[in-house]
Amino acid sequence: VTAIHADRLWDTIIVGQGLAGTTLAWHLQAAGQQVLVLDADTPVTSSKIAAGLITPITGRRLALSWGFETFLPVAQAFYQDIETLTGQRFFHTRTAIRLLTSEAEQQHWSRRDCLAEYQAHLLTPQPNALVEPDFADVRFGGFAMESAQLDVRAYLAASRACLAVATVTVDWPGAVAFYDDHLVIHGYRGLRLISCEGHAASRNPYFSEVPFRAAKGDILTVRFQQPLPAQTVHRGVWLAPTAAPDVFYVGSTFDWDTLDCVPTPVARSEMEQKLKAFCRTPYTVIDHQAAVRPIIKASKPVLGMHPRLHHLGYFNGLGSKGALLAPWFAAAFTAFLVNGTALPDSANLRAYM
Ligand SMILES: Cc1cc2nc3c(=O)[nH]c(=O)nc-3n(C[C@H](O)[C@H](O)[C@H](O)COP(=O)(O)OP(=O)(O)OC[C@H]3O[C@@H](n4cnc5c(N)ncnc54)[C@H](O)[C@@H]3O)c2cc1C
Repeated sequence: VTAIHADRLWDTIIVGQGLAGTTLAWHLQAAGQQVLVLDADTPVTSSKIAAGLITPITGRRLALSWGFETFLPVAQAFYQDIETLTGQRFFHTRTAIRLLTSEAEQQHWSRRDCLAEYQAHLLTPQPNALVEPDFADVRFGGFAMESAQLDVRAYLAASRACLAVATVTVDWPGAVAFYDDHLVIHGYRGLRLISCEGHAASRNPYFSEVPFRAAKGDILTVRFQQPLPAQTVHRGVWLAPTAAPDVFYVGSTFDWDTLDCVPTPVARSEMEQKLKAFCRTPYTVIDHQAAVRPIIKASKPVLGMHPRLHHLGYFNGLGSKGALLAPWFAAAFTAFLVNGTALPDSANLRAYM
């Protein structure tokens, strides 16, 4: 762990220790930089409540996840490296079961499952029984895919113990002073400052032009009457394993209107209805949380340096896929900052500022 001396001049100061800030900090440090992370240490954040699912075929339209083949190998190699560095485990490969809900969905799937790009993600052979018949209704069949899950909380906690992190809530803009060749923020001196604040960046006055289309998500934690296999099950809602074999996350909702972290009975009942529509195993709800996903208009990550304040940068827009996207885009941002490699056009902050 790097000591946090008050007189140190940091190469990069990052604001926010969610998936974006943590992953960028590891990449910059690996490139030889001295990195300090300032984080409010808020108990509920999008990263802290996320299930960390990395799923190749998702949603009602059974769509292929954007860039999955490119982003997954980078994510897997990165998280496994950090597991080795920290001596903790948080990246798990998982079988993901998708149960179909109707004949129409079966037909839709029959037109897709023969395509090579879909076949590449399916388990071969497919299991005889997708799930135990007394666990869930499998009337319309489904399929089993290879997927992964990041235990995001464990990744953040292990990283916090190893990176230089100070508990500070940055109060923009008053807390920052920019000079020709460095900046000072809450008394810390750095050559560069990068906002990785998630949805809170929508209140950052330096980046007010970035168009958010953020969505609140509620998530339940449920305890089943008996242990279940450590696989994810998707059917309207998803069930995602936790460290305890009888405890699963159930998620999640999308609410574009009320952007707060207050769990609501309406969201809980929506998720429970979808769960009860197929799950026959009794459960009790033991926790319910909500946070706001940092989705930016085009639903793609956004990164780069401020066009006028040359020491100030931005890494955001991980949306609902932070576990998959953070490592590839943190690597791209690091290559830009350290070697001057061009940023991917589709993710460049300059599109908005
Ligand atoms: C219910 C739910 C389920 C989800 N499930 C999944 C999933 O299964 N798989 C997946 O990949 N993604 C999932 N996501 C999305 C995922 O959470 C996001 O993609 C990701 O966590 C965003 O990370 P971030 O670092 O950009 O933002 P955040 O997680 O919001 O982190 C920002 C950090 O910055 C800190 N901060 C902000 N402002 C300041 C400030 N001014 N001063 C100091 N600190 C500050 C915050 O306290 C926080 O620690 C889910 C999200 C929700 C809400």
